[in-house]
Amino acid sequence: MNVEHWIGGERVPSAGRFEDRSPIDGSVLAHVARGGPEEAALAVRAATGAFPAWARTSREERARLLHAVADAIERRAGELAMLETTDNGALLRSHLRSVMPRVAHNFRFFADWLLELDHAAFDTRGHANHVSWDPAGVAVLITPWNAPLMLATWKIAPALAAGNTVVLKPAEWSPLTASLLGDITAEAGLPDGVFNVVQGHGTEVGPPLSGHPGVRRISFTGSVATARAIAAAAAPNLTPLSLELGGKSPLLVFADADLDLAADLAAEQYDNAGQVCLAAVRLLVEESVSAAFLERFLARAATLRQGDPRDAETDIGPQIHPRQFGKIDGFVRRAVAAGATPVLGGGPNPDLGGLYYQPTLLTGVKPGSEILTEEVFGPVLTLQTFAHEEEAVTMANSTDYGLAATVVTGSPSRARRVSGRLVAGTVWVNCFFVRDLRAPFGGARRSGVGREGGNWSFDFYCDVKNTVSAP
Ligand code: NAD
Repeated sequence: MNVEHWIGGERVPSAGRFEDRSPIDGSVLAHVARGGPEEAALAVRAATGAFPAWARTSREERARLLHAVADAIERRAGELAMLETTDNGALLRSHLRSVMPRVAHNFRFFADWLLELDHAAFDTRGHANHVSWDPAGVAVLITPWNAPLMLATWKIAPALAAGNTVVLKPAEWSPLTASLLGDITAEAGLPDGVFNVVQGHGTEVGPPLSGHPGVRRISFTGSVATARAIAAAAAPNLTPLSLELGGKSPLLVFADADLDLAADLAAEQYDNAGQVCLAAVRLLVEESVSAAFLERFLARAATLRQGDPRDAETDIGPQIHPRQFGKIDGFVRRAVAAGATPVLGGGPNPDLGGLYYQPTLLTGVKPGSEILTEEVFGPVLTLQTFAHEEEAVTMANSTDYGLAATVVTGSPSRARRVSGRLVAGTVWVNCFFVRDLRAPFGGARRSGVGREGGNWSFDFYCDVKNTVSAP
């Protein structure tokens, strides 16, 4: 199968192509158009041309069209789920049950929120202030492979609702559902050029998109290293950026916690084969309960089944790509060489081969070592103990990241105290991954710049204007 760009409502090829392989068995799924500066310019031109009419389209009509996109996604949810699973190796079960419904919800939520946006009005010495959220122009959206369509539509939906036109650059390891979204938006009646997809390698098509002077917003989800490159390319134009980056989140288990709950929450960190930015990969457990916690955790982890992600019984699928697989194994090997003990897993799955990496838990890790400070982005957790609350907070905050944190405790006052001191964009207390699109989402420190969600999304994607009128 050949996959082309989606520009101005048409399929556009490139001279070059790259292979897209399935992480399940390494088979070639598609030959994908390999975009560069020319295709980036073409897509921005198409989006710029479509912008004035889309920006003038009434809110009600924009919202109606976004609901039509959601309808089309729901109609094709099975197809999208299978396509995503074959392309990125994440569980079909999750795609069917939660991911594709969330993809449709992204469009419905921001369509409805647009209609509720409060055009604040107030009076200054008889002069009327009127605040409006004006469309900004072309938004470039650059997204990763770990939850391709979910993360892309979390940006596409508010950008379009705001009245902007969009150029999406999906990850080269998972290009397929973004491509299908082109057809879906056309089917739903979105005008040509309002939504565009440019395929290609990040290093080739990314810089001409990020550095394009006609682009008014860039929203990026991915690694810190790429965020730096994008920020540098955007700097000459001072293009506003929203950056949702990596993490090294802690899960704190206090002695007063429900240890069964703590073990369940810890085992949940292997979801998506550990390829989750928010994953609480550093288990920090109060000394007095660490043995009891570990016993429960290992019992829980032993029930997890690794295998083909299309199988409904599978809990953990393959890693996305040989490069990522090698990176994960390198982290584990170096940690073990430095004295860590793999009390669970510790290497490739010998029965399954391929890109299947065993869920791993390391104890005895060296304080300050890379396994505790750098993002592995695989099914690898570490366990450390703490003596008291003060030490727990210090350990939790001891990385350059600040995306999320999870606190497990039976004490509401401790929960409040500790959450207040954690450096994180999101703190979960006695739960994990409960997301509400009305809430701000983003990271502290190197986990990101800015917040999206609810009004925060519209504040970013719009030019917020105040008009003051004399009496
Ligand atoms: P990545 O940074 O390698 O790539 C992300 C995207 O950037 C891809 O589309 C890639 O092609 C593109 N890209 C690469 N180089 C570029 C350049 N020079 N200019 C412009 N674009 C370029 O990240 P990844 O490996 O695809 O994803 C994993 C990372 O994403 C992890 O760090 C993870 O924590 C993070 N992530 C964060 C969130 C969040 O919401 N905070 C969510 C999911 C993933």
